Amino acid sequence: MSQALYLPRRLLRETEAHLKGEAPREGVGLWAGRREVERVIPLPNVHPSPLTGYLAEPLALLKALRELEEEGLALLAIYHSHPKGPAFPSPTDLKEARWRVPYVIFGTDGFRAFLLPEGREVEVVLL
Ligand SMILES: [Zn+2]
Repeated sequence: MSQALYLPRRLLRETEAHLKGEAPREGVGLWAGRREVERVIPLPNVHPSPLTGYLAEPLALLKALRELEEEGLALLAIYHSHPKGPAFPSPTDLKEARWRVPYVIFGTDGFRAFLLPEGREVEVVLL
């Protein structure tokens, strides 16, 4: 089964701008859309150690998911950043993986998407 993510470059830049603004803390957010990513939704990181972990603020997450549903958009991916590390899942990322959508990780070496906890890489196609 192919589960590539289709991402307009404009929204890649929007995501990178969000994560740059969060650094040196990790940033977290959602990509939503129909076939391709249409919306970047930054979420507050309320992790107690935000330099090395992320936790999307639960009420903001619920509100975002409800709005997507109302607009007929699907949750396509969850992204977060590793401001000082590589774009690979950390042991914590593997342990805490809950969602069936790809996890996109932005690291110092670029970004990659994975299905977790299996760790299978998902292609990101830039549009
Ligand atoms: Zn991580």
